[in-house]
Amino acid sequence: MAILQADKKYVANGVTVNVYHLGDNNDNGIDMPPRPRCLNLIGVTIHNTPWIDTASGTTPAEQYTRATKNDNMGSVRVHYYVDDECAWENLPHDQGGWHSCDGNVGGNGSTIAIECIMKSSNDPVSLKSEENCARLTAYLLQKYGFTIDDVYTHNDWYKPKYCPIYILPHWNEFLNKVKKYLGNPSAPSEVDVKELYRVRKEWSDAKSQLGAYSVLDNAIKCCQDGYGVYDKNGKIVYKKESGKPVELVNVPEQNDILELQKILNNKGYNLVEDGIFGNKTYDAVSDYTIEYSNRGELTRWVQQRLTNKGYPCGEIDGICGNKTMNAIMKFQADNGLGVGYLGGTDWKYLCK
Ligand SMILES: [Zn+2]
Repeated sequence: MAILQADKKYVANGVTVNVYHLGDNNDNGIDMPPRPRCLNLIGVTIHNTPWIDTASGTTPAEQYTRATKNDNMGSVRVHYYVDDECAWENLPHDQGGWHSCDGNVGGNGSTIAIECIMKSSNDPVSLKSEENCARLTAYLLQKYGFTIDDVYTHNDWYKPKYCPIYILPHWNEFLNKVKKYLGNPSAPSEVDVKELYRVRKEWSDAKSQLGAYSVLDNAIKCCQDGYGVYDKNGKIVYKKESGKPVELVNVPEQNDILELQKILNNKGYNLVEDGIFGNKTYDAVSDYTIEYSNRGELTRWVQQRLTNKGYPCGEIDGICGNKTMNAIMKFQADNGLGVGYLGGTDWKYLCK
């Protein structure tokens, strides 16, 4: 299952919020709380939910969001999941939630819900989650003109439930953290997440821009004589000159190697992440083989690389099944390599 991509991001009091509204992404047809919410908004409700270990490249807040989208969270719907790194916004503020055991009224109807992901009351990672939760809470209070008295616990709405279980033992400390950020307002800033291709005469000549497109083909269509298409880093990707057809200047292929170096460094290597396939990267990657039933980030990378090279592996799911094995063996045969699992000098051919 692919990691979710946020539709939008913003930064609230220093917390990066990934916006992924379930209602806008509901291809699984999960049940959703009423929108607009059934009662007027009066505050924020804090919850705790257990820490979960995640695959590399993602965080618990994304994983909880994904579990909800895939209908694996029962009827729980909250506005935010927050972990030690970031927050994921699952519901717009004018939509009710399902989190405080009171149907579509009470806390569900009248508050914004934050699930703070923690494993204990006082380990460093959990305290970072709590810190982010405090920052986000202050942001929400400020946004709606609420005060510290408008912060609720799940327990306030439903006495049998001792939640937020890890924060309640030091609830006043938590409120003090929120107050600290209330006293230091910082405006939220929007973050552009879409990779845009810009059509300009020169990258440095922003005024010449004819358009910005998230799809490369559309940028190329827009590109006129004397203009180029630039990626988000200002690297030229296409250029059109009078009398000449659109010409490919640079295939952004080095990104693959950079990605590979990151994966290897996550496995404990210490490679320079320069996107160049040199001896050190080769030495590191050739410690690995990819064979039937392997799974993980490196397998996923191989699937993507082979697919890009014209050897389709089926779904890029990080699992080496029959389709991936067939692609590996076809690639090996076409390059005059021994046919079987991927390893050794195969990497040189795959990475060049
Ligand atoms: Zn709760």
